[in-house]
Amino acid sequence: MKILSVNAGSSSLKFTLFELPEKKELISGTFEKIGIGNSFYTIKLNGEKIKREVDLKNHEDAVKHLMDELLENKVVENLDELDGIGHRLVHGGQKFSESVIINDEVLKAATECIELAPIHNPANITGISAFMSALPNIPQVAVFDTAFHQSMDREDYLYGVPYEWYEKYGVRRYGFHGTSHRYVYKTICEEFKNDKLKVINCHIGNGSSLCAINAGKVLHTTMGFTPLAGVIMGTRSGDIDPSMIPFIMKKENKTCEQVIDDLNKKSGLLGISGVSSDSRDIEDGIENGNDRCMLANDMLCKSVANYIAVYNNMLGGADVITFTAGLGENSKLTRETIGSLISSLGVVIDKEKNDVRGKFTKISGDDSKIPVYIVPTNEELMIAEDTYELIK
Ligand code: AMP
Repeated sequence: MKILSVNAGSSSLKFTLFELPEKKELISGTFEKIGIGNSFYTIKLNGEKIKREVDLKNHEDAVKHLMDELLENKVVENLDELDGIGHRLVHGGQKFSESVIINDEVLKAATECIELAPIHNPANITGISAFMSALPNIPQVAVFDTAFHQSMDREDYLYGVPYEWYEKYGVRRYGFHGTSHRYVYKTICEEFKNDKLKVINCHIGNGSSLCAINAGKVLHTTMGFTPLAGVIMGTRSGDIDPSMIPFIMKKENKTCEQVIDDLNKKSGLLGISGVSSDSRDIEDGIENGNDRCMLANDMLCKSVANYIAVYNNMLGGADVITFTAGLGENSKLTRETIGSLISSLGVVIDKEKNDVRGKFTKISGDDSKIPVYIVPTNEELMIAEDTYELIK
């Protein structure tokens, strides 16, 4: 079956076409700057990268170019050969605990979740609408970032705030990156031939979250009501004392929204180092003796290590620890530093095995009490596989 995996942002649209169940990637690409001028798209096909500058007024224009590329490059002879389209949806609220075939009811429920994800959900829904009007006869599936975490227990997803906030407004921990956490969990379970594994997955990229999973059930995840919570990230603060918000509002004469914006976009590695949100720049800074870069990296690693210790306790001892996403897959310094900070758990990172990037591999020594792996994430494939399972 040919399944298209789609991730629509407010001004971008990423896609990958898979042949399933073979997991073969046929073509992929990204449309950028949709509706904001100087738009273009890039396509990866047969190992080659093509860039085209085109006028993309809206997502419908992007979908039209996408369909033309599929036909012109003979990826398909006819658009009817597409069997299904899977869409990433950031927020499914409490309504969706798994992926679903999209119908009017699903679209209505996803629209109701807009107040929980005011930037992402409208963009995701715009993408869905564009494909639904262009290809109305092809089944479309919604895959939610929040769905995997719906298996958390009440005492783990509730905050210590007035219970009515939850009842009236849905204030609770939702968690994000669920599709990535689920993909990594599935992959490591396949490796161990055991679907009951107790895993701590560390998704550390520009946005980061950890997830404790026992036999496919999420026990806890570090992001919360929004993606701002949890560990220190590229530009997000992670956990803070909320009382600093009105304090800074007064001191800097800012609105609440402006301070939240600072916490989302000017904090984390960027805010602490004053240099960059990108850990490659932070690592360069460390090599050049920049103290604030060292501090930023130490703080990020400590916040991850401390959550690993908590999650190890929640799981009653993890079977495996996994690293994924930009830093998790590529930064040996980050993995090594985190490893040394959890040595009390008996974790030993093997320096030589850890000298690797973006590859599924074990990086712990044979003497490590908990094995540690790099598992490159693939949310696009997970979206396509969910679509395949629902429509086959
Ligand atoms: P993601 O959000 O998963 O795409 O991760 C993006 C982040 O991964 C970047 O901002 C970098 O900080 C980090 N990253 C990517 N490649 C490397 C690398 N080779 N070394 C260190 N960090 C990297």
